[in-house]
Amino acid sequence: MRLGRVAPLLLALALVATLTGSATAGDPRWVFYTTDKTHYTSPWFKGAHRIMIPFGCTTAPYYSPDPRCRNDRGFHHGLDVAMPCGTPLYAAVRLRAMPHDSLGSAYGDNPVLLRNRKRGFDLVIGHTRKVYVKPGDMVAKGTMFARANDRGAPDGCHLHFERRAVGGGLSTAVKPRALLALTPRRESR
Ligand SMILES: [Zn+2]
Repeated sequence: MRLGRVAPLLLALALVATLTGSATAGDPRWVFYTTDKTHYTSPWFKGAHRIMIPFGCTTAPYYSPDPRCRNDRGFHHGLDVAMPCGTPLYAAVRLRAMPHDSLGSAYGDNPVLLRNRKRGFDLVIGHTRKVYVKPGDMVAKGTMFARANDRGAPDGCHLHFERRAVGGGLSTAVKPRALLALTPRRESR
């Protein structure tokens, strides 16, 4: 009878080992539009991962030409961090989950919109599939609210982290890096 309980646990551990393993292998669809090869940790996600596409004008081909950018380059309104599919995403501060209907298809079919009225920002988390909060929920600091995925993204699983004004929409997106609080991983190998 005890074995019946242990077997699923072992299975879960094996799955975790598989996910961790794929972190080093990487996703063949990832293309890094930055020269920064540093792996960063953050209170917003598990593990240490590389920036794939920074905020602002970019040579990444997925964005239509933007008047703010030279040479027909597009504008990326968030910061993309490449990470294996299924990587847990955490709330680094207390947030309220909002309806995501206004976001549009570019973020996938199940993105997350989070709000912190006190600190004055909305947060768009793009390309998620598994989401563990629903609109109206208060999300306590440290809660795993979703897992990274590639929904609506041609370039592999990643976190799209986008900071906007409260209720402000896409045009109010600003550099999200300070909020993402990236810290270089200490190299131990
Ligand atoms: Zn993005």
